[in-house]
Formats: sequence, structure tokens, C-alpha cells
Amino acid sequence: MAYFGTNGVRGRFDELTPELALKLAQAIGTYFKGGKIILARDCRLTGEVLRATVAAGLASVGCEVVDLGMVSSPTAEFMIKKLAADACVIITASHNPPEWNAIKVVDGKGIAISRERGAEIEKNLAKPKLAEWNKVGLMLPYAFATEDHVVAIKKLVDAGQIAKRKPKIIVDCGNGTASVIAPKLLKELGCEIISLNSHPDGRFPGRPSEPSEANVQELLAAVKSLKADAGIAWDADGDRVVFVDEKGGYVIGDRVYALSILWKLKKTSGDVVTTVATSKAVEDVATRYGSKTRYTAIGAPYLCEEMVRKPAAIGGEEVGGVIWPELCLAKDGMLTAAKLAEALCEKSLSAWLKEIPVYFNVKLKLDTDTDAKKKAIVARVLAYAKKNKLAYVDVDGVRINLKNAWVIVRPSGTENYVRLFAEAKTQEEAQKLAKEYERIAKG
Ligand code: MG
Repeated sequence: MAYFGTNGVRGRFDELTPELALKLAQAIGTYFKGGKIILARDCRLTGEVLRATVAAGLASVGCEVVDLGMVSSPTAEFMIKKLAADACVIITASHNPPEWNAIKVVDGKGIAISRERGAEIEKNLAKPKLAEWNKVGLMLPYAFATEDHVVAIKKLVDAGQIAKRKPKIIVDCGNGTASVIAPKLLKELGCEIISLNSHPDGRFPGRPSEPSEANVQELLAAVKSLKADAGIAWDADGDRVVFVDEKGGYVIGDRVYALSILWKLKKTSGDVVTTVATSKAVEDVATRYGSKTRYTAIGAPYLCEEMVRKPAAIGGEEVGGVIWPELCLAKDGMLTAAKLAEALCEKSLSAWLKEIPVYFNVKLKLDTDTDAKKKAIVARVLAYAKKNKLAYVDVDGVRINLKNAWVIVRPSGTENYVRLFAEAKTQEEAQKLAKEYERIAKG
């Protein structure tokens, strides 16, 4: 049985048990040859038990464990280079409900471990290399990671301008680990901060941890009624971020990414990396600045791998995770928030949003009952693209890039359907496109 998914090993407490966590930690430690491993966790109620177990597992195979305690995921990943670690293990289930948890692994270069590399780690499950009694690893706490991360971010934005403009920002940390850094960071930058759900609580009592529009209604209303310049909400481990403009309008993840590209490419040049599920608004902004867009399979590990394979100015995914390679390869919801504060010194968020093209989308599910049928659907769409000489990317399903529109068919990894997603300049065109490709897919 394979444990590693797209980004780590995930499960409820009766699936990702302490026993399994111990074995996985020993396998991970063996894979990294008993090196120096950073360990961090989010604020879930099972976090401390799993952290203690993973620490024991890593040290038992000779790893030196540097324990950062409860910090945001981008903070933990930022520390890899700073502490010259060989890897980083984060106990977090990101945006999932509170009863879930996960073990996420990032290597010494800052690249998240994919399903494929996870399979390599799992080979060690059968034969963990238990250390000699006098070579068992040390377990050392390190209490300054959040402070180090804040200092590093402040160097990457115009802190002087922000302190002068003092944007009023309402932060909604969703009771996740953004609580330990986001209000502090933005306050130190000179923003006026009002905080919602900003104490860590692993039951997520304030709102569900996914910062979807439905889940951040309180923030939308607060930005409007308190006349703030913007609102910011994170998922439970602080790598993903969404914005709210000064009119109370929700800014979805891929528009957050498109904005980030805009801010980055105004000052520097380079390619843009994103997943095949991302809005065309991203490519449109990149093209405006003469930058090439490189598409990857869905999942943070694939973004990181592509950015290491060939340099890029920025990387990001459709749900609001943005990688700023000048800092590290983590999706960093904290640096993205600081960049928003900087951008607000120039003009309002709604004025910035006018520079991002608007698209409409339609999502369909094509039901199938076997993997063979899923493959056949994807193959039919790919054959159609080739026959009609359409621009396509087939690293994860098939994405077809058309003028002012695109469509993707992609098999679900866990369930019996193929997703079909179409995006166009109007809702009618998106609907038409989705129907057209549904016919093609069904053959
Ligand atoms: Mg996350």
C-alpha cells in the first residue's frame, strides 16, 4: 500500500496513527541518511502527539531534529536554507477539516516530496536503519523561526513606504498557524491591523480552514463595514492566501496569483510557472510582460521541481499559493500578504484588480466506472487536440489553450469521474465550450 499522496501522507487520526507516523519518520530519516531535519507542526489537536512521535522516529535513525514547534508551513520551509537542514517535516493537513492531519516532507533544496519520491521513501519502511545506541540523534528546540521569517520578509518589501501609507488590513487567520506570524508581520510593517480568528485553535472554531468565499463571509462584511483597505485570509498552515478588496469583494486564489505576477514582473523579468488548473488570467498577465508561462502537473512538488529545473520569476497555483523564489520555494502566504501591503501604497486593491482579465468558468464531472474509461476519455481529447493542431499541455490530463479560453479534462485520482473545466470570456462561451468538449470526451 502506498502512503504518500500528491503532497505527503494524509489521514484521520485512526489512519495516520502514532504507530504509522513513527514508522514513516524512520523511513524518512533513513532516506535523508540521518541528516539534520527541521520539524514543525500546525495547531491541530493531534499535532503534538504526531510531532513527538515523528521526532522520536527521526532521532532513532540518527537524524538531528531541530524542532520549530508551532509555526506556519512557509516559516518552516524558509528555515531549511537558514539552518542548512537536509530536509523539513511538517505535521499539517493544510486546509482540511480539523480531524485530519498529514506528514509533509520537503528536501534540503526546498522541494516538496512528490508521490513518486514518496514511493522511494516508503521502500525504507521495511528496513529502517536504527542508529547505534550512542548515535541516536539530538532533538533540539529552535524558538526563533517566526522572528527570522518576519525579518527576511521585511527585507523583500518597501517597509518604509508601507509604514508611511499605513494600510488598514483585516486579517482572518482561521485559527490556524497564520495566527502566530501574520498579525505580527503586518503590524511590524506599519499596517493598521484588525484581526479575526487569530488565536491558534486546532478545532477551527471561527471558520472552516479552507479560505473559500463561503467560509470568509465574516471577513467580507468586516472589510466593508470597518472601511478597511483590504482583507486577507489564510488556510490552516498559512501557505495559501486569498484577498478581499476594499469594497468587500472576494479575490479568488488564481487572481491573487495573477496580481502577484503583476507586482513581480513590474520590477523584474523571467518565466511564470503554474499548474494546468490555473486561470488564463495568469498567462495573460505574463504575456503582457513578455514572460513565458510554463505549466506543470497539479501539486506543490511539481511546481518546485519545475522551478529548480529552469529558473522562473515566480510560481503559483490556482488556490492562492504563490512561490517567491527570491526567498525560498515554499508557497508563502506571509510574503504574499506583505506584497499586498506594499501594492496598496500605490493604489487600491480594486484598482489593481482592473489590470487582471476577467474569466468565467464551468465545471462538469464526467462519470465513469473504470480507470480504463477515464484514460479513454483523456486519450480522445488529446487525439482531438493533435488532429486539429490545437495548443495543448498533457502533463496532467489534457489542457487545451485556445484564444481567450481554455479547457481541461483530468481524471480524478480517487473517484470514478473525469473533471472537465472550461474557462472563457463570458459565462455563455464557457458553457458552450464545456458542452463541446463533453461531446468530444464522450466520443
Ligand atoms: Mg496549506
